[in-house]
Amino acid sequence: MKFAKYQPTVTPDLPDRQWPNQRLVKAPLWVSVDLRDGNQALANPMTVEQKLKLWHELVKMGFKTIEVGFPSASQVEFDFTRRLIEENLIPEDVTIQVLVQAREHLIKRTYEALQGVKQAVVHVYNTTSIVQRERVFEKSKAEIKAMAEQGALWVKNYAQAAQQQSPVSQFIFQYSPESFSQTETAYAVEVCEAVMDVWLPTPENPCILNLPATVESTSPNRFADQVEYFIRHLPNRASALISIHTHNDRGCAVAAAELALLAGADRIEGTLLGNGERTGNMDIVTLAMNLYSEGIDPELNLSNPDEWMAVVEEVTQIKTHMRHPWVGEVVYTAYSGSHQDAIRKCLLKQQADEPWQVAYLPIDPKDVGRDYEAVIRVNSQSGKAGAAFVLEQEYGLKLPKWLQIDFAPVAQALAEKQGGVISHKNLYQAFLIHYALTEKKPNISNYQIGKAGEMETIRLDYEQQILEGRGKGTLCALCDAWQNSTGQVVDVLDYAEHAMHEAMDVGKNARAMAYVLLDVDGQKKIGLAMAEDTVSAMLLAVLKGLN
Ligand SMILES: [Zn+2]
Repeated sequence: MKFAKYQPTVTPDLPDRQWPNQRLVKAPLWVSVDLRDGNQALANPMTVEQKLKLWHELVKMGFKTIEVGFPSASQVEFDFTRRLIEENLIPEDVTIQVLVQAREHLIKRTYEALQGVKQAVVHVYNTTSIVQRERVFEKSKAEIKAMAEQGALWVKNYAQAAQQQSPVSQFIFQYSPESFSQTETAYAVEVCEAVMDVWLPTPENPCILNLPATVESTSPNRFADQVEYFIRHLPNRASALISIHTHNDRGCAVAAAELALLAGADRIEGTLLGNGERTGNMDIVTLAMNLYSEGIDPELNLSNPDEWMAVVEEVTQIKTHMRHPWVGEVVYTAYSGSHQDAIRKCLLKQQADEPWQVAYLPIDPKDVGRDYEAVIRVNSQSGKAGAAFVLEQEYGLKLPKWLQIDFAPVAQALAEKQGGVISHKNLYQAFLIHYALTEKKPNISNYQIGKAGEMETIRLDYEQQILEGRGKGTLCALCDAWQNSTGQVVDVLDYAEHAMHEAMDVGKNARAMAYVLLDVDGQKKIGLAMAEDTVSAMLLAVLKGLN
């Protein structure tokens, strides 16, 4: 590996940096650049119809600023912008944003695309980084700064002309020193100051200065230093909104954006699920959900991923990774028995009105439309807890510990036989069959329970014979009756019962469930039964155990 070929990005010295002491307390202003940056990174760029579909979804999710394209660069982008304006598809509280290079004919064309718009951000950029200046543009610092000033002037002058034609139009100006993260920070300040001197923003009518990590080239802490340095050295900072636009080349776009917010930024540009050039843009879903999981209102509605993810996947033709933070298919799933056991215990204790405290689940999966089928997947590694959890959560069966242990190998064998994960329904069916819960026999329709002093007595018809016995309570009386008839010594080791709702596949009338663990002549026997009432369930469970 030829590491000596590379050198670190230079970032400013900032020994008195303040950002490490800050905390995130509110959501930033979000800007979706899915329709622009996301779109330009696609092998097959979106059609106007696909763009419209994604646009509606972004509006529905609550984005208030949406970068819709680069209308001077392609006819599709131009047409899409026109369609939004002409068909009145932009809600009152939503602002569209368009990108343009600092070149006059492109700026002119951009305002043509915006004709009649109520409010738009005109986002102009030129590149400022060392490598771009020296190797791509072959221009000096002064020449690059002059390009920015000239671009700012065209943006301002054409805006005035557009407003004369259409007085309803309001324009907000945005400037990006493209590849800010690879620009000397003091020089980036100098260029942005020059742009502000052209636009003359005020705290009431601020401009936007967008700081891109066009290529992520340093660690998030050093990017935060760049942002804090920029903000502290920018004259008239109150007249600019500071926007951040990170890419994910080093896999830290979200972290860099979070630390940039600590460093004082106000606004974040990114895309849903991180689609964008190369490794992608900053993923807004991840950052918003990070805030959400700490109790901060993300100011976006991400509660229905099934809907918005389907749209994103359709228009980008990119499938979401199964382990994508917060929304991947298996990110709330536990396969291992110890994780399942911990989750089950926590969920049983979790009250609806208290803060979420569940091991292995940073948020309640239900908040993003996931049910517990996804949480607990029973496979051959799951052990007793997974099966017990599923039977309780989905079918209302509260298995005693000894029964969980007894049933675990059955579930495991089924998982191995099926070569992977067992569906919850298959697991339940296996449980019913293994413990003969669907069988109608034995029939105990005819029994009488009575009292004889302290003792209870029982008499029941069983397989064409009469069983009679007495004991402390019905259970003991039944065991006594069995012993009288068969000579087998029966001891009840454990007994549990609970009420239930209608039991699936057993019958509407099965409202009571009983579990009994017996010792019959030194051998352990298990009996389970569902019946209309608890006494019938108990008697049936014992007789099933004895059989
Ligand atoms: Zn970008």
